Amino acid sequence: MRPNFHPSLVNDVFEDPCLFINFLFENRAIAFDLGDIHNLSSRDILKLTHIFVSHTHIDHFAGFDRFLRIALGRDKTVHIFGPRNFLTNIEGKLASYTWNLADNYEKSLVLRATEVTTEGLYTQTYACRDHFIPKDPVRQAPPSCILTEEPGFTVKTVILDHGIPCLGFCLDERFHINIKKDALTSMGLVPGPWLQDFKKALYENMPPDTIINARGEKGEHPLTLEKLADSIAVITQGQKIVYITDVVFNRSNREKIVLFAQNADQLFMESYFLDSEKDIASAKHHLTAKQAGEMAGMACAKKLIPFHFSPRYTACRDLVEIEAMESFAQAMGKAQG
Ligand SMILES: [Zn+2]
Ligand SMILES: [Zn+2]
Repeated sequence: MRPNFHPSLVNDVFEDPCLFINFLFENRAIAFDLGDIHNLSSRDILKLTHIFVSHTHIDHFAGFDRFLRIALGRDKTVHIFGPRNFLTNIEGKLASYTWNLADNYEKSLVLRATEVTTEGLYTQTYACRDHFIPKDPVRQAPPSCILTEEPGFTVKTVILDHGIPCLGFCLDERFHINIKKDALTSMGLVPGPWLQDFKKALYENMPPDTIINARGEKGEHPLTLEKLADSIAVITQGQKIVYITDVVFNRSNREKIVLFAQNADQLFMESYFLDSEKDIASAKHHLTAKQAGEMAGMACAKKLIPFHFSPRYTACRDLVEIEAMESFAQAMGKAQG
């Protein structure tokens, strides 16, 4: 199976986190956290349509400036989500620059920011053409764990405890559509943007007689959705990508994380300390590698990717990885009885 979503940590485990999730069949990406993003090309940064920030400690949010620098002057709306106080943080960032020449840009970047709290979702819009000063009052919606819902996928959140509220994120692909290349060829069809229309029609559950303008070797080739689905598509369960960082190990967090990460295909988990330093981990509201592995195992995750290690382990990174993986295997064994 060739997955639609390709997550990759932008940096080494000792650097400021950002999980970049590339959409393989669209010129588009989303990010979990905006730590150091200098390793991302401008082209990749411009693919971002949605950014989800776990919390605004500087190691998770300092990349906002780089993002803003690259996206400025583009005709683009970017949705950005964060925890309690997020609108104040965004406004603080935007207020730190002078925008008197912003009118010179022909195209206007628009940031649509949402603060996620237990009381509700609070959204405000900041447009470059307005010098990033909001025109309308903040829009309030009831509390929801669903932040983004599109035909092909959903992004959900869970509010966790890091001494402050900190968001965990999950990208859930609704189902996965594989295209049978050999079937395409035998029907005289060629890949192209029309495959996106085809997939979108399936995700949106459109009627079987919907006409899709498939691309043939000699031009357009209209076919029904049903005919195409039967002949060129294989539908499998979608993938689930979960990102958990900067959380204290307590009962409430553990229960929430195990439930949230259940059966994740890829589970990215902070592993800031070794378990021999679990008192420091607890005082700093972080996990140990052992605790991360244990929760990943209890959640029956298919794959654990430990990240966000304390720089104190630079010379012994293997120890952190091994501790997380051993604990993961052990807890998984128990969970599966
Ligand atoms: Zn951190
Ligand atoms: Zn933090």
